[in-house]
Amino acid sequence: MHKGGIAYLQSSLLEKSGLVDHAFSTRIGGCSSGPFQSLNMAFHTGDSEISVLENRRRFFNLFDYNSCSQVSAVQVHGIESAVFNEKNRGEGACPGTTVKHCDALITTEPGLPLAAYSADCQLIFFVSTGKPIVALAHAGWRGALGGIGVSLIKRLKKEFLLDPDELLVALSPAICRDCYLVDEKIARLFQDAGYSDPVYLEPASDGFFKLDLTAVNEKQLLRAGINKENLVKNSWCSSCNDDLFYSYRRDRGITGRMLGFIAIRRGKG
Ligand SMILES: [Zn+2]
Repeated sequence: MHKGGIAYLQSSLLEKSGLVDHAFSTRIGGCSSGPFQSLNMAFHTGDSEISVLENRRRFFNLFDYNSCSQVSAVQVHGIESAVFNEKNRGEGACPGTTVKHCDALITTEPGLPLAAYSADCQLIFFVSTGKPIVALAHAGWRGALGGIGVSLIKRLKKEFLLDPDELLVALSPAICRDCYLVDEKIARLFQDAGYSDPVYLEPASDGFFKLDLTAVNEKQLLRAGINKENLVKNSWCSSCNDDLFYSYRRDRGITGRMLGFIAIRRGKG
């Protein structure tokens, strides 16, 4: 989708629910230059902070949110989650304001935008149709291997008495299997965790394996009780599409980040 010169993606499943505002940014429509061209959304990349702030302002404006009210965490490729509420508003919005270290965010607060960053890793958006709860997880190979989706669902069940049946889940663009070669050591970890089928892990040349991050995340979510019809995948590859997305692998670490956000629509709490 395009608006105000900015390109972004939305899940029609989540949009149709009418319960949330959400989007996943591309690299189109920002003011950053060089390897960060142009809509880089993260500070920790080496890009100018002023550019990142301006990019976020432009992006959140499209959805009628103030970029200063987003909450995000320092992503550590773990499986921990944290609950955010009104008092956390703005954490992560400006340099130096991020306090929590975790890869999954949960809120029950209407109008509080949870945000996460990626360049190849997958973001997983969760919406409850039964209660006002949304969550957002960041899963690269470590998060997927650790089962971040599963631990998040467990927590939602235990603490928020939520039934996985009532969850809508959308997966963001991520690096595709053809672009995601992992070495034998990492492949072994996935094999030991039960992902030896070529659907997840396919032998490539020189001892490397193609890892399908989306397939691994999907499998876990279904196993954790998400209904198949309530889960939508995304087939865009961050690495194959350099005009649209940043890719940490393709760009050898010097690159920007896309941002995914989700908020309970105001008036829906
Ligand atoms: Zn690809």
